[in-house]
Amino acid sequence: MEGPYVLLAVLSLIAIGAVATAVWLALRLRRAQATHAEPATGSRQRHDTLTGLPTRVAIVASAEQAIAEAQSAGVPFSVTVLNVNRLKSINDALGHEVGDALLRLLSQRLRAILARGDVLGRLAGDEFVILGRVGTGTIPAEVTVETIFAALREPFSIEGHDIEVTVCAGIAMFPEHGATFDVLLRRAETAMRAGRSVARGSFRFYSEEMSKSEEERLALEADLRHAIRDGQLELHYQPKVDIASGRVRSAEALLRWQHPQRGFVPPNLFIPIAEETGLILSIGEWVLRQACLQMRTWLDSGMPPLRVSVNLSAKQFRHGDLTAVVCSALEDAQLQPGYLELELTESSIMHDAEASAAVLQLLSTMGVHISIDDFGTGYSSLSYLWRLPLDKLKIDRSFVRELLSNPDDVAIVKAIISLAHSLRLGVVAEGVETLEQLEHLRELGCDQYQGFYCSPAVPPDAFVALIKRLRAERPALTEADMLRTQSRLYAYTPESAA
Ligand code: C2E
Ligand code: MG
Ligand code: MG
Repeated sequence: MEGPYVLLAVLSLIAIGAVATAVWLALRLRRAQATHAEPATGSRQRHDTLTGLPTRVAIVASAEQAIAEAQSAGVPFSVTVLNVNRLKSINDALGHEVGDALLRLLSQRLRAILARGDVLGRLAGDEFVILGRVGTGTIPAEVTVETIFAALREPFSIEGHDIEVTVCAGIAMFPEHGATFDVLLRRAETAMRAGRSVARGSFRFYSEEMSKSEEERLALEADLRHAIRDGQLELHYQPKVDIASGRVRSAEALLRWQHPQRGFVPPNLFIPIAEETGLILSIGEWVLRQACLQMRTWLDSGMPPLRVSVNLSAKQFRHGDLTAVVCSALEDAQLQPGYLELELTESSIMHDAEASAAVLQLLSTMGVHISIDDFGTGYSSLSYLWRLPLDKLKIDRSFVRELLSNPDDVAIVKAIISLAHSLRLGVVAEGVETLEQLEHLRELGCDQYQGFYCSPAVPPDAFVALIKRLRAERPALTEADMLRTQSRLYAYTPESAA
């Protein structure tokens, strides 16, 4: 080899050596850092930084040991899951620092209550777990839970707020409900959810029925996801009738789900699932668009003017960009806002009354009508009722059902009618099934009614036939009648818009 080439080769070897050494050093350094960091990461995982309680990782180890002890001693052992109710609302309303302080104080209070040997851990944001002590003389899990409920009757004082906290609990027992911690934990969570769906602040022991109904619910949820795509949802329409003139004022759009295997699934079964899963946002938008398009088809076919009313769920009202969706649905159907009425419940409006007022004012100034549905079953602030741009209160059908036999219901209906009229709102009675009920409502001064006495909700074609039959006897409403809002606050008339 010639001299220069030898020199080049030596230099290359030195360069490669230097790079290799640098890479080797870097790798060693990284490994050293990683080894150094390990205990910190490990301890973070084993202990919750906020409360100092064992985390899921640490709890799994304790549970495995407890299960082994319970097995060899031939005694039962409990896994209790506690879920803090409304933690998200507390965080939203009072800030995360207050929420964090609450969790710290709550875990201290729980620790002080528990028997020695019971293990308390934090599984997630609002979820705690208790591993019951194994052995004779152990306090039964349900007694521990009752003690926790009692201890939580005392509110937590944080930064000048007195915060009341409730928890839901679910209990699973080894070996009866499962052989491993994983199974026991899932079953305790199932029991907790089953209790929560009935009442916040309650506890349940796991039972097999709970898993069955949860599986059934999950299956229904999966089917519901396909329902819109597969065209299984339909809207039926129920007339709302003017009591004085007998004329049909509007049509309430009500969802119907015809499942290919399950058959008819009632809204009261699937709407709560749609709300819980957030599916109601897409379903609700579909309903709104479909109802507006239906009204456009009816108007184009020469049907005299009618208003269509659509039920809105609380989630749609709070989460979706409701005003934009309403505008787009009206625009696509080329429908004036006065043809649309939205039905909301008291709880969805009052949940955040200030924000609701802003959205409703926007919709009302556009000319959309607003009704409060199922009035009398929820909680309304009278001062807000006065300030909201409402058109109508709909008296819940539970008050109409026994109107003829129950003087209490008469008193309630009378009070709602008088309240509505003094707020200058219209009032509609729901669930009118007999002529006697209708006559009584007329005497009490109710403006409109809805119910099987006139017609149940029917498919669009049947609704057209119904209107033809009813309208044959009475003069139709004019478009100007339809477009005028009743709201005292943002009175809209076609003239005022012009
Ligand atoms: P709602 O809005 O209060 O609707 C009135 C319910 O009363 C309807 O039940 C209707 O069929 C029923 N009804 C009407 N007249 C009578 C009567 O004379 N007697 C009796 N016993 N019942 C009568 P449906 O269709 O089963 O709907 C139940 C609830 O489901 C609705 O109560 C509403 O809260 C909800 N819902 C229905 N469609 C929708 C929708 O598109 N979106 C949302 N968010 N909720 C809906
Ligand atoms: Mg309704
Ligand atoms: Mg109702």
